[in-house]
Amino acid sequence: MSVLVFVEMGDGAFKKTAFEAVSYSRELADMLGTQVVAVAIGKGIDGSELGKYGAQKVRILPCSDSFTADAHGRMLHNLVHESGASIVVISNTYTGKSLAPRLAQLMDASLASNVVSLPTISGGFVVKRSVFSGKAFAYVHLLKDKKVIAITPNSFDIKYHDGIATVEESTMNTEISKTTIDSVNKVSGKIVLTEAEVVVSGGRGLKGPENWHLIEDLAAVLGAATACSKPVSDMGWRPHSEHVGQTGITIKPNLYIAVGISGAIQHLAGVSASKVIVAINKDPEAPFFRAADYGIVGDAFEILPQLIEASKKYT
Ligand SMILES: Cc1cc2nc3c(=O)[nH]c(=O)nc-3n(C[C@H](O)[C@H](O)[C@H](O)COP(=O)(O)OP(=O)(O)OC[C@H]3O[C@@H](n4cnc5c(N)ncnc54)[C@H](O)[C@@H]3O)c2cc1C
Repeated sequence: MSVLVFVEMGDGAFKKTAFEAVSYSRELADMLGTQVVAVAIGKGIDGSELGKYGAQKVRILPCSDSFTADAHGRMLHNLVHESGASIVVISNTYTGKSLAPRLAQLMDASLASNVVSLPTISGGFVVKRSVFSGKAFAYVHLLKDKKVIAITPNSFDIKYHDGIATVEESTMNTEISKTTIDSVNKVSGKIVLTEAEVVVSGGRGLKGPENWHLIEDLAAVLGAATACSKPVSDMGWRPHSEHVGQTGITIKPNLYIAVGISGAIQHLAGVSASKVIVAINKDPEAPFFRAADYGIVGDAFEILPQLIEASKKYT
């Protein structure tokens, strides 16, 4: 009845969410007095690194790492069956969101997504979920013996362990996908928004795409990812992959700098869990100032060049 954790890869390396999921699984396994088995899918993976985050066993499925939810779901299900795991932990990323329900259905398991903390197990198995775009929490009782838990990225700290994981390549037949991926066009050379520690984000106050170099320059100095409000991506100033909020990506960086963004509730839904929020807006009544830790009232076109120059002194 081990805890099985699916770890995500990106460009041949483990993602930050993988380490969070393994750390979470180790604490859960310790609570239940069992072991953590991490599962990675792809070729040429060095799984031993996962021992540092608490995995005791690592199973590598050496097949194409192009993600298709149907094939990955069935492969994971076979591994769950083979290992006798009763709980599967998955990151609540784009990948996890399509994988977790499929797997739960195959396992006939209780499913909880958007999980933000370890369960309580004294009076049943109860997990805390973030709901209504992060505006409330729900405590959910998982009734089935088998459980799939999808944890929200950045909601659980990475923890280090001394242990060494035993790594084993699975000889299990890999599943044939019902779809194939012909090619993937990736944005290269940029910090991935969902993994960024610092995010610089722009709104309609930037007036147009021709001014975005100010956001990009500040992001470059701070080693940050860039993001934007929904209207900005709707107008085509920035790609939709940068749109954060209720209908966009949810992020939780250590520092979120919002420039020329009003702070509408739908925008805040995607960023309000950031550790520190700085708002720059020329309107002192802008709602963002109520959600921000620090505010600068003024014109972004005057403040950003000064902030970029000042930041250069510290990098
Ligand atoms: C169902 C639904 C879902 C939505 N989902 C999302 C979502 O996921 N994400 C999202 O962002 N929005 C979302 N929205 C839209 C949201 O309600 C707001 O309309 C949007 O966030 C506003 O974007 P903005 O702040 O960039 O623009 P505006 O509201 O136009 O605000 C621009 C801000 O810039 C400031 N400003 C102007 N000039 C300057 C300057 N020179 N220097 C400094 N500040 C300046 C202004 O004072 C103002 O506060 C959603 C709306 C609905 C109805």
